Amino acid sequence: MPITWPVACRRCGYQLMGLSSDGVCPECAWPVARSLLEPMVAENGPDFVRCLLTGASRIFWGTLAAAVLNLAGSVLGIAVAVTTIAASRQGPAAVGGLEIFSGLVGLCTAAAYGVVAWGWWMLTEPEPSRLRDVPGAALRPWVRWLSLSAAAASAFSSLLTIALYGSSAGAVVSGAVAAWAMLVSLLSLVVLIAAFFTQVLFLKALAPRIPSPAAAQWASVLIWLVPVLVTVGSCFIVGPLIATALQLVMYHALRTGLGQALAAARATPPPGPDA
Ligand SMILES: [Zn+2]
Repeated sequence: MPITWPVACRRCGYQLMGLSSDGVCPECAWPVARSLLEPMVAENGPDFVRCLLTGASRIFWGTLAAAVLNLAGSVLGIAVAVTTIAASRQGPAAVGGLEIFSGLVGLCTAAAYGVVAWGWWMLTEPEPSRLRDVPGAALRPWVRWLSLSAAAASAFSSLLTIALYGSSAGAVVSGAVAAWAMLVSLLSLVVLIAAFFTQVLFLKALAPRIPSPAAAQWASVLIWLVPVLVTVGSCFIVGPLIATALQLVMYHALRTGLGQALAAARATPPPGPDA
């Protein structure tokens, strides 16, 4: 059966359109049929799979650290609110120390998001194989820059908190500054949401080629379940916590799959003409 759409030989890049699908590449004699399959991640060699695995591990540990720090930040936020109310009853008392500490915790959270972004950068490493149009390839730059932007927005928001209270300890924060701070957190929320959707969509496209059926299934479920848990679930407080826990389960499945792919990549020699 002749190939009627443009397909490059996955080994040498020769254009296979018009050739028979059960033949071999005229340039390198590699079976044409193997270029028609979606390339498995392991076919790119152990170094490439190791890069993806390291990326997945950074995403896992970074997400876990960010979740713990977020929880600490929420507790601190409540403490700040309570002391602010108590202070306002006694007149304009000195508040600021707790806010600055809360800002520092926020900065640590931003660093954890930085590790997550680094992980996504590695996981979206372009494949060295000649076939560029792998599923999800178009999402790569989006995942990379949105993940980085999410970390940067988180850091900026925390720095703003520290600067705000550090410079005006005890003073009343002006309405304009408070509005700016609110705008920044709103903007970082939008970036976080966009980053989440591109990340999960990329995982959904990547998982079958690891292969990691578990990660693929989790990605299909979490793309709608996480937004539900974070919005509706927030009314029951534990919603975002469950969302994070489920994301960690997905990232763990990803790491397991990539670990197996790495073993497969080490076991099989690179494809040759006689493969
Ligand atoms: Zn070829």
